[in-house]
Amino acid sequence: SEEIEYLISLFRSIPDFPKPGILFRDFMPVLADPRGLSLLIRAMLANLPVSPDEIDVVAGLEARGFLLGPAMANALGKGFIAVRKAGKLPPETLSQTYALEYGSACVEIEQDACAHGERVLVVDDLIATGGSAHAAAQLIQASGASVSGYSFVMELEGLNGRDALEQHPVSTLFSMP
Ligand code: IMP
Repeated sequence: SEEIEYLISLFRSIPDFPKPGILFRDFMPVLADPRGLSLLIRAMLANLPVSPDEIDVVAGLEARGFLLGPAMANALGKGFIAVRKAGKLPPETLSQTYALEYGSACVEIEQDACAHGERVLVVDDLIATGGSAHAAAQLIQASGASVSGYSFVMELEGLNGRDALEQHPVSTLFSMP
């Protein structure tokens, strides 16, 4: 649609960042643009992977998921929880290590961030391999909650990120190479 084309036009692509050979897709200019910000949040809400009545809480991945998640949660009348990089949260936390192309990373949530049985929508700006979102899902499940689905603004093509997310519904507004 014209609105999605407008959002895509606001993305910035930076070659060789943060490493040589990586084409970094930056959605921050979307947030800086008043029309873009409004369209983005409305489009995310119009493209939820599940019905709003299957969502009890929204979880955002550090850092750009923190910019989307609270606005979406607020519009849905729900709360927001943060999935943080290791070492940022006070104890007690749950931790999940996951593999990167080179090395590994670790994410955490507060142990009591989700109530038992809550259904959680996981939000981030972008899915590449799906490793970060899957690690977030493992934390949510370890805390006794469940994943209702995943919402991303964009999907990087050719990485099969959705395959890492198993059976849960995934929504993205668009994809880029
Ligand atoms: P994944 O874990 O491989 O799916 O990578 C997704 C995570 O890395 C998300 O938290 C993204 O914000 C970040 N990421 C990976 N590639 C890019 C990019 O090109 N632009 C912005 N974020 C990226």
